[in-house]
Amino acid sequence: MTTMALQSEAFNRSAVADALVAAVRSVLGPGEKFIALHEPEFAGREWEYVKDCIDTGWVSSAGAYVDRFERDLAAYTGAKHAVAVVNGTAALHLALVLAGVKPGNEVIVPTLTFVATANAVSQAGAVPHFVDISMPALGLDAEKLDQYLADILIDKDGQRINRLTGRRMSAVVVMHTFGHPAEIEKLAAVCERHGLLLVEDAAESLGSTWHGKHCGTFGVVAALSFNGNKVVTTGGGGAVLTSDETLARRAKHLSTTAKLPHPWLYSHDEVGFNYRMPNLNAALGCAQLERLDGFVEEKRRLAAAYEAAFAKVGHVQFLREPEGSRSNYWLTAIRLDDALADTSLRDDVLTLLNKANYMARPAWTLMHRLAPYATAPRMADLSVAEVVERTLVNLPSSPRLGRGID
Ligand SMILES: *Cc1c(COP(=O)(O)O)cnc(C)c1O
Repeated sequence: MTTMALQSEAFNRSAVADALVAAVRSVLGPGEKFIALHEPEFAGREWEYVKDCIDTGWVSSAGAYVDRFERDLAAYTGAKHAVAVVNGTAALHLALVLAGVKPGNEVIVPTLTFVATANAVSQAGAVPHFVDISMPALGLDAEKLDQYLADILIDKDGQRINRLTGRRMSAVVVMHTFGHPAEIEKLAAVCERHGLLLVEDAAESLGSTWHGKHCGTFGVVAALSFNGNKVVTTGGGGAVLTSDETLARRAKHLSTTAKLPHPWLYSHDEVGFNYRMPNLNAALGCAQLERLDGFVEEKRRLAAAYEAAFAKVGHVQFLREPEGSRSNYWLTAIRLDDALADTSLRDDVLTLLNKANYMARPAWTLMHRLAPYATAPRMADLSVAEVVERTLVNLPSSPRLGRGID
């Protein structure tokens, strides 16, 4: 768009914003009541399973539902093992420790992510190193990362060292944004080429696949989240996925205070975490997993309806699943034209949508802009993430909104 066009666009900005709101209304209805961004739904056997925990007294961090939830997750995702924990951030922390991330290491993290991704790296005592993302998936840019790593990494005593900071680089965390699979096979090849371990933050992508293979099964270890706003919820919860038997056993051990199995003796062989998921939460999770495929179907139907509605609106694009993938469409999103990044249109749209009872929000503030990470190492060029930050709007995405849409 030229500057001239942008100036006349400024004149038309409210018309564009009105057309966007009308498109949302055409999908969601008049918005008589507030429509949340993502609501949990308990219309299956949730109450039955949770009541069973209370009736039997098995409410805490051991119990049949925890075992079943772990088995169901492994079966669903195709990972050999799943270990249920208290939340997604704890799962990520544990995943990084399992991957061998040590205090003082650097770990590659996309600058566009929920803060938990960066915080988990910090909690492992390591330093997040922020890099750019690519369109349309909004995950790490494999090609840009490959060139960047070739530029900054050197070999020293058999380790990969960032020559700019002198720190060892040990892992790359890929995040599948809003449920859309990142270019994961290319990223796995980049990790392999540079001698770095691949960890997946699959918190948003339960139910998403890349060429039929489930997100969270490409790296050495992955983290899921079952927070209240995720595709399925356990109230609060998370899980570590891995197909490595040794890592799975270690995940369970570390998450249960590194307690040595014994009928009555309390003895621990390292500094562990109290990260085990309680049976109550796992009971909720078992019932939610029974509904997962239905939720994904409904969310995909909603996404298709949004896509059709926005196809008729200028200056905006619906964020589609990347080619070769099947997304759970955890959070649906639209993007304004890049040329509108420096206008107030995004904020106008957010204000109008929220005022009209349709909850909408922008992408997360980029990690390198947050106070705790202002001085963290980063790629100089984070331009794609910076444009996405200024142009993206997430729309209401609850499964129920896709019900009854053809
Ligand atoms: C939800 C989420 C997490 C984990 O969140 P918890 O609230 O700790 O379960 C981690 N990373 C991303 C990208 C997320 O969206």
